[in-house]
Amino acid sequence: MTDAARHLTLVEHPLVQHKLTLMRRRETSTADFRRLLREISLLLGFEALRDLPTTTVTIETPMAKMEAPALAGKKLALISILRAGNGLLDGILELAPSARVGFIGLYRDEATLQPVQYYCKVPSDLADRPVIVVDPMLATGNSSAAAVEVLKARGARDIRFLCLLAAPEGVARMKEAHPDVRIVSAALDARLNEQGYILPGLGDAGDRMFGTK
Ligand code: URA
Repeated sequence: MTDAARHLTLVEHPLVQHKLTLMRRRETSTADFRRLLREISLLLGFEALRDLPTTTVTIETPMAKMEAPALAGKKLALISILRAGNGLLDGILELAPSARVGFIGLYRDEATLQPVQYYCKVPSDLADRPVIVVDPMLATGNSSAAAVEVLKARGARDIRFLCLLAAPEGVARMKEAHPDVRIVSAALDARLNEQGYILPGLGDAGDRMFGTK
């Protein structure tokens, strides 16, 4: 695997790409956007969790005893970056219903584009858990890098970042700040505009999922 491929995984499955195209369309309603986001998060989560550690356990089927694979170690920790991260969280919780969940609230100062933290509540024992950070839009990468910084300061060691769309600027920022964090995304778009929005993108993910615009 190349260094770039280790850092950024694009999920090119046709179902993911089709759903993403529907989500990008200006005319897609809030209800459809939300439904598609939940569906796509299941497919992205499937990829992000591909390398979870497994062990074998002895079970009995109605026919025989067998050694069967099972997840090993502590439960996942899912960390949603508020508010848009919550749209991805719901779907992934369906895949991993026992996961522990944390929230980091960051808003982007519109003038500096720098993240300002206003909330943080995460599981206390992050060191022993695989940690998946969810935020649909990896734009400048400033909030994402700041969130990962917070998690590392609280002990997290095995961190993945799951998003819907990434901009090259955000991927580069994350790679520079956190080269150990693998990013899983449905697409890598062209660039950011002057306001830090992804082009062609899909607009403001929070507004689109919550209908706030
Ligand atoms: N956040 C969004 O919701 N959309 C973008 O394009 C960039 C950041």
